[in-house]
Amino acid sequence: MSSDSCGICGGDGRIGNSFGLTTKCPSCHGTGRRNSEESLFRDVTKTKPSHHRQANKEVVAPKQTWPASHAGAQLANEVQSCPSCSKEIMARLIREIIDHEIQHGTCTQTFVKKIRKQIRPLV
Ligand SMILES: [Zn+2]
Repeated sequence: MSSDSCGICGGDGRIGNSFGLTTKCPSCHGTGRRNSEESLFRDVTKTKPSHHRQANKEVVAPKQTWPASHAGAQLANEVQSCPSCSKEIMARLIREIIDHEIQHGTCTQTFVKKIRKQIRPLV
């Protein structure tokens, strides 16, 4: 066994978490190599938006990037095909749709209308 293999995952970069899922090793971030310095860890956290900073919570399910429900996905498609939306606004609205879904379990008509108003202000 190589001495610079990661001690947490044994060098394969992946570990099973308590949900039965295989996830990226939080110690070596999937490289399988021992993380002798903290620099790698700092570089990774630095690229994250500050409001999403989460200390020592790397072992979580991958972040959802697209709505799970049919209505939500349809709405997200409308957002993405909106010619007057900037990439930042699209990303923010899609994030809002996902958050709404997580909170309410579905996209309510009121919410769909609210989002549509933002992507089609002239209608
Ligand atoms: Zn590891």
